[in-house]
Amino acid sequence: MRCPKCGMEMVEITFEDIKVDKCSACLGVFFDNGEVDRLIDTNKPGFLSRMASIFRE
Ligand SMILES: [Zn+2]
Repeated sequence: MRCPKCGMEMVEITFEDIKVDKCSACLGVFFDNGEVDRLIDTNKPGFLSRMASIFRE
């Protein structure tokens, strides 16, 4: 999959059992269809900080 924003190759990572496509160029993060709903289901205190850990590599 290529980044819709900049066209660079994206890296698929797994976050909380959800597959996320992350662009290494512009740091955009894109979720596959339906996975956003699952993400909302797992929303709870501390979620955002764990989400931020995606970018700490
Ligand atoms: Zn990009």
